[in-house]
Amino acid sequence: MKLTELKATDLIKGYENRDFSCEEVVREYLKNIDEKEKEINAYVTVMAEDAIESAKKVDEKYQNREELGILAGIPVGVKDNIAVKNVKMTCSSKMLENFVVPYDSVVSERLKKEDSVIIGKTNMDEFAMGATTKTSYFGVSKNPLDTSLVAGGSSGGSAAALGAEECALAVGTDTGGSTRQPASFCGLVGIKPTYGSVPRYGISTMANTFDQVGSFGKDVEDAYLLLKALSGKDKRDATSTGNISLTDNIDFSNDEKAVEYLKDLKIAIPQMYIDMNLNSRVKDDFNKAIDVFKEKGAQIEIVEMDSIKNVIETYHILTNGEIASNMARFDSLRYGHRTKEYDTYEEMFKKSRSEGFGDEVKRRIMIGTHILSLDLAEDYYYKALKVRTLIKEEYEKIFKDFNMVLCPTVPVLPFKIDEEMSPVEMYQADLFTIPANMTGSPAISIPMPKLDGLSVGIELTGRRFKDQEIIKAALGFERSVK
Ligand code: GLN
Repeated sequence: MKLTELKATDLIKGYENRDFSCEEVVREYLKNIDEKEKEINAYVTVMAEDAIESAKKVDEKYQNREELGILAGIPVGVKDNIAVKNVKMTCSSKMLENFVVPYDSVVSERLKKEDSVIIGKTNMDEFAMGATTKTSYFGVSKNPLDTSLVAGGSSGGSAAALGAEECALAVGTDTGGSTRQPASFCGLVGIKPTYGSVPRYGISTMANTFDQVGSFGKDVEDAYLLLKALSGKDKRDATSTGNISLTDNIDFSNDEKAVEYLKDLKIAIPQMYIDMNLNSRVKDDFNKAIDVFKEKGAQIEIVEMDSIKNVIETYHILTNGEIASNMARFDSLRYGHRTKEYDTYEEMFKKSRSEGFGDEVKRRIMIGTHILSLDLAEDYYYKALKVRTLIKEEYEKIFKDFNMVLCPTVPVLPFKIDEEMSPVEMYQADLFTIPANMTGSPAISIPMPKLDGLSVGIELTGRRFKDQEIIKAALGFERSVK
C-alpha cells in the first residue's frame, strides 16, 4: 500500500510505531502533487519547502519523545480563503492574486499547534461563491473520481486534493454547503459543525451569519479528528462559542459498537424531499440509506416542513446582502488588485473592482446592493430575515421530537465540467445543504458505497451544539454500509 493511501489516523499509528517518517510521507504526497496537479488543479499554492521543514520538525519531536499534537505529521490542504501567515491567500480571485497575508488565522494557528503539516492552499470558487470551482480565477478543479466532472464547490480544491491523495485531511468553509457538497461529489466525508464552533478569525468572510469552517476526511473518524483540532472558542471571533462539547469518547475501533449508535435514533425526513423529482441514482441511494437506518434500529418518520421550500431564495437574499457589504472592503486602496491607469480615485475604485472581480462575485454584489437599498430593504431583506426565523423555528420544533433530519446531500450527481448552467440552475443544487447554515445546525455528508466509480452523499443535519450526535450516527451508518 502506498503511504498516501493511508488515512490520517493510520498515518499517526505508523509514526508511533516508527514504520515510516513524516518526511517520507510528505515527500510521497509532494510526488503525488507533482504528478497529478496538471490534471486535477486542486491547489493554488503548493508549500513544498515549508511542508518538508515542518515534517522534519515533527520527526525530531518523535525522536526526542516530545509531546505531540493530535494532528502530528498529517499533511493538510487549507482552502485559500483561510489565512496562513506569510503565504499567498488569493480566495481564487484576481483581486488577491498576489496578496501575501501577514498573520495566521485561528485555524492555521491550531493546525500548527497540533503539529500538522500544511502542504498547500486549495482552489475554490472565487470568494467561495459557487458550487463547481468554475468561478475560480485559477481554473476549475477536476473530480479525482472522474476528471470530466467538477469536484464541487466552493471548497472543490480541498475535496479534490484529498480525493487525489494530494493531502490526508483538508479544511474547507461552508456558507451554504461548500464542504458537504464537494465531499459528496468526491466520495468523502465532510462536516459543517454548529455555527460558531470553529473561530472565523483570519478567514475571508463571505456571509458572516452563515459561514463556518468545514472538515474533510476520507472517513468519519478522520474528519472528526480534524474538527476536534479546530473547534473551540477564541476571543478574536465574537461569534465563536465554546459550547460544542466534543467530550464523549467515540469508539472508532469497533464496527459492532458503531452500528449500535443507530439504534433508537429518531430521524425525520421532510415530505417535500420524498415528493421531489430527484436524480434517479440519488433517489435509489437515498432509499437504500433509509433502509439501512431502519434495519439498524433507527425510527424514521416523514414530517411536514413547509418552510424549507423557501430556503434557496431566502439564502440568496440574505447572503447577497452580507456579501455586498463584505466585498466593499476590496477598494484597491489598502490591498488587492489596483488598476494601472486612472485619473480620479473614483475611477480607480471602479476600474480596480471591475477588473479584479469575476462575474459571479459582481452578480452577487449587485443583487445585494439592490436589495439593501433604502426603498427595497423592507420588501426583500427584512422579509427574508423573517422567513429565516420561521425556518429556524420549524427546525427547532422538529428537533424537539427528533435527533436529526436525513436527506441526500445534493439532489444531482456531479456536474460535467463542460455543462453550461445558468446561475439559478446551479443555486438549485444547494437545496439540501442550505438549511444547516440558515439555522446554525451541524451537518455531515457521508458517502454511499461507490457504483460505476461514483458515490452519492447522504446528509444528516442535527441539533445545534450536538455535533457528536450526528457524527456518531454517521459513523454507525458508515460501518453499516462498508
Ligand atoms: N453553492 C453555494 C453558493 O454558491 C454555497 C457556497 C458556500 O457554501 N460557500 O452560495
